[in-house]
Amino acid sequence: MKNAFPILIAEDNPVSRKLMEMTLRQAGYEVVSAENGLEALKVFKEQFFPIILTDWGMPEMNGLELCRAIRESPTEGYVFIFLITARDSKKDIIAGLEAGADDYLTKPFDRFELIARLKTALRVLELEKSLKDAYEKIRILSITDKLTGCYNRTYMDEYLAKEIIRAKRYYRPVSLVMADIDHFKRVNDTYGHQAGDLVLKDFAASIRKGLRKDVDWIARYGGEEFLVVLPETDYECAMSSAERLRRIIFESISSYNGIEIRITASFGVVGFVPSANNQKMPYEMIIDRADKALYRAKDAGRNRVMGESLTG
Ligand code: GH3
Ligand code: MG
Ligand code: MG
Ligand code: MG
Repeated sequence: MKNAFPILIAEDNPVSRKLMEMTLRQAGYEVVSAENGLEALKVFKEQFFPIILTDWGMPEMNGLELCRAIRESPTEGYVFIFLITARDSKKDIIAGLEAGADDYLTKPFDRFELIARLKTALRVLELEKSLKDAYEKIRILSITDKLTGCYNRTYMDEYLAKEIIRAKRYYRPVSLVMADIDHFKRVNDTYGHQAGDLVLKDFAASIRKGLRKDVDWIARYGGEEFLVVLPETDYECAMSSAERLRRIIFESISSYNGIEIRITASFGVVGFVPSANNQKMPYEMIIDRADKALYRAKDAGRNRVMGESLTG
């Protein structure tokens, strides 16, 4: 049986080190050993270990210094540190805990006690993992639109600003496409709100399928309006992408209780190219231009793409 959390050992005495390795391996742990604190720190910087067993007295860097170094560095998760030492005075124990150790064992250690104490560490690490998982779930919920699964406005506001800053820093193009379903009110009025919801879901799914995976992204801007962000994309490419999306929507059919519903959508495109003089160009302004292009597409008869190239 393999235990999920690998353990890093720091111990200069070869006999003690071997004994620890054997005990832990027999208990199913994956173990990596280092001969002193400095070497352990080097290993740790290359690979994260959630559990560290360290001796106190070691050349180069002792156990307390290792504890402090680990606590000072940012780590990807909690590190549970055991100090294993012959010192057992109250003063030493306090010094160890203050340096950042979570627990200590006195040498010569009892293997059953070590395994039992490791189980305490595992409970702490499991708890941390479940908290992290729960946090991740909440984080995803907080940036996702419930109906369509697209990003919501909260995400859009934060990441669009970042996208524009990035484009400006590296003088790279970025394009925005504002998409709005044509006469969507009629869908609701004709087939009911639930049918409207289904059409919205299908619309978002069709657009997502038409985008570059892991590069482009889409946010629900408002009711039946969506903003598509195309990083590293110039005006011409954005126009042809929007045209492709328009056709995908034009050709797709939603089926609600056996009724086929067809929609069209209009698209407003802005191809943004940062200029060398680095003018101020807040993302709200770029969105506003995409909005204006969208209105031109609506005015011209809907089911079409209008756009402009913008430098700033
Ligand atoms: P246009 O072609 O000019 O865009 O016309 P439109 O009817 O699409 O635009 P309008 O702004 O008049 O209506 C948008 C409608 O979208 C009205 C609103 O009830 C509906 N809507 C917004 N959010 C939702 C939603 O989550 N579900 C459903 N079913 N309808 C929604
Ligand atoms: Mg030693
Ligand atoms: Mg509309
Ligand atoms: Mg609208």
